[in-house]
Amino acid sequence: MYNKSYQAVDYFNIDDLLGEDHKIIRSSIRDWVNRRVKPIIEKAALEHRFPQGLMQEMGELGALGPYIPEQYGGAGLDQMAYGLIMTELERGDSAIRSAASVQSSLVMYPIYTFGSEEQRKKFLPKLASGEMIGCFGLTEPGYGSDPGGMLSRIQDKGGHYLLNGSKMWITNSPIADIAVVWAKDESGKVRGLIVEKGMPGFTAPETKDKWSLRASITGELVFDDVRIPKENILPNISGLKGPLKCLNSARYGISWGAVGAALDCYHTALDYALERKQFGKPIAAFQLQQKKLAEMLTEITKGQLLAWRLGMLRNEDKASPAQISMAKRNNVNMALQVARESRQILGAMGITADFPIMRHMMNLESVITYEGTHDIHLLITGADITGIQAFE
Ligand SMILES: Cc1cc2nc3c(=O)[nH]c(=O)nc-3n(C[C@H](O)[C@H](O)[C@H](O)COP(=O)(O)OP(=O)(O)OC[C@H]3O[C@@H](n4cnc5c(N)ncnc54)[C@H](O)[C@@H]3O)c2cc1C
Repeated sequence: MYNKSYQAVDYFNIDDLLGEDHKIIRSSIRDWVNRRVKPIIEKAALEHRFPQGLMQEMGELGALGPYIPEQYGGAGLDQMAYGLIMTELERGDSAIRSAASVQSSLVMYPIYTFGSEEQRKKFLPKLASGEMIGCFGLTEPGYGSDPGGMLSRIQDKGGHYLLNGSKMWITNSPIADIAVVWAKDESGKVRGLIVEKGMPGFTAPETKDKWSLRASITGELVFDDVRIPKENILPNISGLKGPLKCLNSARYGISWGAVGAALDCYHTALDYALERKQFGKPIAAFQLQQKKLAEMLTEITKGQLLAWRLGMLRNEDKASPAQISMAKRNNVNMALQVARESRQILGAMGITADFPIMRHMMNLESVITYEGTHDIHLLITGADITGIQAFE
């Protein structure tokens, strides 16, 4: 009689605002996450292992580069579909969504947008199918929130470039076939280049022992006099706006993805509260627990509406970077708060791997930091409102 948790997924009938094709895509990803991610993800996270085989399955589903045109192997979908896919993937785990985000927004997007026709044809179909795995190298040991200070350098040697430097905290780097790397040229301009596995002088050691995103593989990129053929430079971009445009796309996806993690926590907590009895009643009958559930659902609904509106703006190419910052920051923080409240509703059971909440909570500690920290996104909004940058 109490079990209304499923209907509550869409408390403000946002489904009415979606097309039939969006609902079909969402249901195919939701079904796949339930069948292929949910049953294995706790173990993968406990073992600190990325379930790499899922990449090709995501490729078959059209979840890698969903908005890349079909002629390059993408699914040719719109931004709303991309967002819905990210929500469903992160309902499974932020690590799975991270892998799809990096592949789509940080590897395929720059190759499609800034690459040559040869680069598009050579890399995009294999990245879309998941046959090839890509990573994105921007962050360095000394430069995280301030990527413009990067030390990685390319030198023009006539027939090729010579790349030196290192990147850190790179999702999928140890297993990547290619890395889209950002480095400065002799004139100090940031350029994008495609570094391929096996190039002499290029290594990608793993960063071990993370408490967060344990089902995602993270590592470094180390470049020691790596010869980069000239055809591997992204010809149509220079300057920091290149990586920042990629990050806009990824952050947009994260604003939708975080809603998925929040929904998974909320539903787990609601179902538990309806079943768990203390003092002779379901704990859902106590006002304090209802307050938590009601506030969680309110915040999730606000996050869903923000993501939906941002999707509309992205479809019209009208979403500003500051709007994307606001949505990423709000929705990830919302998801983290929902995870924390849900964990409390489960009492001691909330800390076990029998339930997904603690895993989501720990994952979200990375999501709130990567792709621009919670603080930096606030300062982007502040700068947009006042016209004064407070972070440089
Ligand atoms: C699991 C994981 C995966 C990642 N994947 C990738 C990837 O694939 N590719 C990639 O390039 N990077 C990746 N990153 C790196 C990520 O983007 C950076 O961690 C992030 O940009 C923050 O940089 P930092 O960790 O060096 O923190 P710092 O920049 O050192 O910041 C530390 C603290 O200081 C605050 N701070 C910094 N500057 C200011 C300021 N001006 N005013 C106020 N406060 C400030 C920050 O908000 C933060 O709280 C990943 C990180 C993680 C954890």
